[in-house]
Amino acid sequence: MKILVINAGSSSLKYQLIDMENESVIAKGLCERIGIEGSVLTHKAHGKEFVFKEQMPNHEKAIQMVLDALTADDCGVVKSMNEISAVGHRVVHGAEDYNTSVLVTKDVLDCCKQNIELAPLHNPANIMGIEACQKVMPGTPMVAVFDTAFHATMPQEAFLYGIPYDDYKNLRIRKYGFHGTSHMFVSSEAAKALGKDIKDLKIITCHLGNGSSIAAVKNGKCVDTSMGFTPLEGLPMGTRCGNIDAAVVEYLMNKKNMTIGETLNYLNKKSGMLGLSGVSSDFRDLTEGNAFDNPRNKLAVDIFAYRIKGYIGQYAAVMNGCDCIVFTAGVGENTPYVRNMALKDMEYLGVKLDAEKNTHCPRGQAYDISAADSKVRVLVIPTNEELVIARETKRIAKI
Ligand code: AMP
Repeated sequence: MKILVINAGSSSLKYQLIDMENESVIAKGLCERIGIEGSVLTHKAHGKEFVFKEQMPNHEKAIQMVLDALTADDCGVVKSMNEISAVGHRVVHGAEDYNTSVLVTKDVLDCCKQNIELAPLHNPANIMGIEACQKVMPGTPMVAVFDTAFHATMPQEAFLYGIPYDDYKNLRIRKYGFHGTSHMFVSSEAAKALGKDIKDLKIITCHLGNGSSIAAVKNGKCVDTSMGFTPLEGLPMGTRCGNIDAAVVEYLMNKKNMTIGETLNYLNKKSGMLGLSGVSSDFRDLTEGNAFDNPRNKLAVDIFAYRIKGYIGQYAAVMNGCDCIVFTAGVGENTPYVRNMALKDMEYLGVKLDAEKNTHCPRGQAYDISAADSKVRVLVIPTNEELVIARETKRIAKI
């Protein structure tokens, strides 16, 4: 059985075709510049890369090109679209309406549309991806897998902000959390790697990439996470500021003569590692080679690691302990300096890294980097959000 996974952004669309017999990726690719001059589809199959330059005015055309590539003579991997049993779609925001993945129906789509006001940058593109697939593949079951669903188990004291309660009830202002598929995946992989039942574990999962978030997973359920009403809250990230005093917004607007839109753009796109270093949002540029010759590069990365340490302390307190800390995503999997700085001086919690293992952690597999006498296991686990979406699609579509 083959499942197509779609992750649609406003001008891009990522896809993977996964064979569920062995959970292997048969083909994957990326449509870029949808609706913009110079659209291009990069398709990877049979160990080769195929590039198609053809205008994609909308997501429907993009999906059609993806299906053409998947079924073509040279770069195709299936004989016809009928071999694709179901399509799993990443949907960023499910609000309080969805605490699990669901089969897409008209009601589900309507609900996702109502939630656009909560995720104006993401949900419209996700919906376009679903509608485009429905047109091009009528009759194929579609499943929506929400970034927020895994965090639906947070208790009120974790997800409510200190603002008037009616504004939670009427305006739905609360912490939702994101990267749920990744936190769900790596926490269950951690339990497997430790040979324990996830129901017996207290795990802190650190998804550190261009966007970053941390989650406290107690007995298999998320009890707190660092992202909030939007993915702007929490850690400072590639270009996002993370936690900041809300009063800074008005002050910035006045001092820099910016509109609210410009101020949000500043906080979302010009801050974080980029703003602090003045060099780059990419951790490779900030940590590799002689990057630390520029003290602001080091400062930016040290601030990032310091905030991670703070969340780990908070979540260990919230869960009354911690059995395992997991690092995942681009930075979490590949940057020993961040892991070391975040976990050093944590003897109080029983965390001790093995410096050698941390530095020479092999890529692409679950790996324990804690010292033999560390009370808390520290694991580096590659995330695989597409595989979670495919598994969820299989489960929900009952195929
Ligand atoms: P993600 O959002 O998970 O794709 O992660 C993107 C971030 O991970 C970027 O800041 C990259 O610099 C960083 N990253 C990806 N690969 C590596 C690597 N091999 N070494 C260091 N950082 C990496």
